[in-house]
Amino acid sequence: MRLILSGPPGCGKGTQAQILSHNFQIAHLSTGDMLREAVSIGSKIGLEAKKTMERGGLVPDAVVISIISERIERQDCDLGFVLDGFPRTLPQAEALDKLLVGKNLAIHSVIEIRVKDELLIERISGRFSCSQCGEGYHDRFKQVKRAGVCDFCGSTEFSRRKDDNERTIRERLGNYYAQTSPVLPYYESKNLLSSVDGMAKIDDVTLAIDRVVNNARKD
Ligand code: ADP
Ligand code: ADP
Ligand code: ZN
Repeated sequence: MRLILSGPPGCGKGTQAQILSHNFQIAHLSTGDMLREAVSIGSKIGLEAKKTMERGGLVPDAVVISIISERIERQDCDLGFVLDGFPRTLPQAEALDKLLVGKNLAIHSVIEIRVKDELLIERISGRFSCSQCGEGYHDRFKQVKRAGVCDFCGSTEFSRRKDDNERTIRERLGNYYAQTSPVLPYYESKNLLSSVDGMAKIDDVTLAIDRVVNNARKD
């Protein structure tokens, strides 16, 4: 199963990709996570991407395309993958197609998670994650069960992203509508696009995505 989750920053791509990865035993490929990792280890790519990410811009296509093309070669992608945050521009979508055609593989489904702008700002402003296992949380919408302790790994260290502030969020939203949303009609023309209501509860969004994925499997 090879899936793409698309939608504006904060719509729930990471949250749902993590669940899909677990349920279908497929790899979760987040270009945002890969780039943050590159920044934290201080690699050449990380040093180049850092400033762009902090101001909410898009990292050059060539950089993310090369990251993804290397990543999908790994063995954990043999059973499939869920792409989270890629492709974010039309040239990225076209490059992905070329890459997959060369391997005789196809995308089964592209799922757009729809959420209104006002809600996105609230989502992103309250987002934090476990520093140990990466599990995502929210101050109001997805709290830890025991105060200060990660539900999954028991760690007591959490972090917030530097780019999750209101000014940067507006910049990222602008880029989404200008550069990423044109990717949706591209997939619609290939009959791969479905949309789900991302304003529903996390579990209900998962159910809606499951329905889309199960339909794609029947094709
Ligand atoms: P969010 O989950 O809020 O949508 P991500 O974690 O996916 O954010 O991405 C964080 C930042 O990393 C983006 O603002 C952008 O600077 C960079 N980035 C991630 N994926 C891509 C991509 N496919 N193309 C260009 N830049 C990207
Ligand atoms: P994205 O990867 O698209 O940027 P995330 O999955 O990181 O989005 O979600 C953004 C924030 O909103 C996180 O703090 C997450 O816990 C929370 N969240 C995700 N889905 C929902 C939902 N359906 N309802 C309420 N909060 C949600
Ligand atoms: Zn944890």
